[in-house]
Amino acid sequence: MSNVSSRQPFLNARLQGFGATIFAEMSALALRTKSVNLGQGFPDTDGPQEVKDAATHAIASGLGNQYPPGIGVPELRHAIRDHQKRFYGLSYDPDTEILVTAGASEALAAAVLALCETGDEVVTFEPWYDIYGANIAMAGATKRVVTLRPPDYSFNEAEFLNALSPKTRLILLNSPHNPTGKVFSKEELSFIAETAIDRDLLVVTDEVYEHLVFEGEHIPIASLPGMRERTVTISSGGKTFAFTGWKIGWVCARPELTAAVRIAKQFLTYVSGGPFQYAIAKGLSLGDDYYANLLADMREKRDFLTEGLESAGFQTFRSQGTYFVTADARSVGFEDGLELCLQLPEKVGVVAVPNVVFYDNEHEGRHLIRFTFCKSFDVLSDAVQRLGRLK
Ligand code: PMP
Ligand code: GLN
Repeated sequence: MSNVSSRQPFLNARLQGFGATIFAEMSALALRTKSVNLGQGFPDTDGPQEVKDAATHAIASGLGNQYPPGIGVPELRHAIRDHQKRFYGLSYDPDTEILVTAGASEALAAAVLALCETGDEVVTFEPWYDIYGANIAMAGATKRVVTLRPPDYSFNEAEFLNALSPKTRLILLNSPHNPTGKVFSKEELSFIAETAIDRDLLVVTDEVYEHLVFEGEHIPIASLPGMRERTVTISSGGKTFAFTGWKIGWVCARPELTAAVRIAKQFLTYVSGGPFQYAIAKGLSLGDDYYANLLADMREKRDFLTEGLESAGFQTFRSQGTYFVTADARSVGFEDGLELCLQLPEKVGVVAVPNVVFYDNEHEGRHLIRFTFCKSFDVLSDAVQRLGRLK
């Protein structure tokens, strides 16, 4: 089991080797074995009622039931503008610098497809989020990775510089980072930014966990000096409002970059999620208490699961953000995290994700596994009790 699959007779060469996503596979395993699913990162409770009501209201009153504007409904683009200003002091023009997409997933695909020529190289960090590799392959580009290593998942600057070549077109960044829970520091982001400026590279940054930062702060790389004009910032409402099924995402970038991404996006889905666009606009305008409560709740869950994992014998690596905490399989007697993830459901009835599938250099992640804590306390305490039986 992994993202890598055997040869598919009808699949083109660019996508050979890509199989079912690990998240779908592990969720299916959880269902089959009736295990507690701490694999795929989706909340088990819905987001705010008023946001749900806004979606219902939009459908009932005919808002967005027909094709919305290609760049997104004005209400949402204005809400995204206000959000970027409110949280980061960044100004974007809602008509030329903001684009609504089918989740961050489509924004990422459209950005990579729009900005890369065949043969270009994209530098990203490993472990990487699974769709990056497929997006880069679809664009006919090549992925070059820089490894983030525990305990703090920092990277080596020389390795980063070595990953760059004259063919490098863009740096694909993700902070807060899935699956490690790393939040890139100001120093790290500044180093990446200075390198991007020095080499005249674009940066595509995936910030879907921007409101889930427990330690340090989320710094959009676009806010660093000289970066706004070379950065495509991507986020979505899935994590922030706990409606991962709605798939409302967005891009913020200077007009020329937004125009390029819009052209690719237009021929992927054209538009999507009309009524949900109004609802996410409502979500983005919620008061500071909403964002503070979301964070406080998730921090408590992170602490609860981390302590539970540690008392079950796992060495964990501190999660600074996201929905995820990583652990070392060797601390419970497994050299191989994939093997542990395959045995965990049978042994104790818990599903986790083996991080090896997010690495090009598999030896770097062979022993690492990921648990999500975006579940109710009942589910988390059930999981912790079950994991206690590992000893
Ligand atoms: N980027 C990262 C790092 C993710 O974890 C996810 C999945 N939740 C996405 C992008 C995709 O986001 P969306 O569901 O908005 O497409
Ligand atoms: N982003 C989620 C995770 O990392 C999964 C989303 C998906 O299944 N594609 O678990």
